[in-house]
Amino acid sequence: RAKKEGRNCSCFFEQAMDLEARKRHQMEIDMREAVREGQFLLNYQPLFSLEKNRVMGFEALVRWQHPLRGLVSPAEFIPLAEDTGMIVPISEWVLNEACQRAGQWPDDIRIAVNLSPVLFKNAGLPLLVMQALDKAGLKPNRLELEVTESLFIDNIERTTAMLNALRDCGVRIALDDFGTGYSSLNYLRSFPFDKIKIDKSFVDDLATDISSQAIIGAITALASALGMETIAEGVEDKDQLEALRAQGCSNIQGYLFSRPVGIELVDAMIADMRYTQAEPGEAAEHGRARRV
Ligand code: C2E
Ligand code: MG
Ligand code: MG
Ligand code: MG
Repeated sequence: RAKKEGRNCSCFFEQAMDLEARKRHQMEIDMREAVREGQFLLNYQPLFSLEKNRVMGFEALVRWQHPLRGLVSPAEFIPLAEDTGMIVPISEWVLNEACQRAGQWPDDIRIAVNLSPVLFKNAGLPLLVMQALDKAGLKPNRLELEVTESLFIDNIERTTAMLNALRDCGVRIALDDFGTGYSSLNYLRSFPFDKIKIDKSFVDDLATDISSQAIIGAITALASALGMETIAEGVEDKDQLEALRAQGCSNIQGYLFSRPVGIELVDAMIADMRYTQAEPGEAAEHGRARRV
């Protein structure tokens, strides 16, 4: 009897697996169509400098406008895009679109773009980046490429060579989600990043947890000794902000200041920022970036 139940159980499990596989297969078909039909869009989240008290740039975050499922988050489709190689045409679109938009912004506002480790397997990556800059007429130092520590797992020499080739194009390189990988300090030694993005997980309990505070203090000290900028991601409340300030972190990104927004709000945000700079007494309007 137990055996029979066991079999039923595994049968149910297999059916569930089958369903999962079919869903995945359908998503893959849909994704090919999405690339052909241009179903992707970018949201932009401001990167805010506490020292300069202004927006320094925006991070481009991709979304998939699925005809049936609505907005699909990158956490859901990027892994599959990486497995199937679809990440290459998607990233090409993201890079071009982001650079094109940033080309319309004031000179002192940067655009940050996330790069999947999969792209680093292709020797043509620097050319792809240069072409995107060229087409948009964007100065290389206004583009910041965000990479994660997982990039280094494969081959540290090849990775650093590629990062150097990218840096030679004049773009900036940021280390994203810092602190969540395996031996972060080693990566800092192998490549001189322009910026370290402190992972949200350290920010979450910052207001109450002394060890998170100590870790952030140490990261900012380390970064400044290495000549790297720091930015904390996922900043949601004032207590976190004050703790970050106290630990010497000079840039923040998070819902406290603004959620990622559509391109139509970016121009307003940039204009609004100019306005509040000229008139420091004025509060930002609703639906726009909050003043911190
Ligand atoms: P990421 O690069 O670490 O981006 C930050 C993520 O944190 C974004 O999620 C953003 O919406 C979210 N976030 C920002 N502030 C807050 C906050 O205060 N609270 C909370 N709870 N979340 C916050 P999103 O847009 O869903 O992107 C998730 C990840 O998907 C990104 O993490 C990045 O790894 C990847 N991704 C996004 N766009 C692209 C892309 O164009 N190419 C590649 N390869 N990956 C991308
Ligand atoms: Mg990022
Ligand atoms: Mg991040
Ligand atoms: Mg993150």
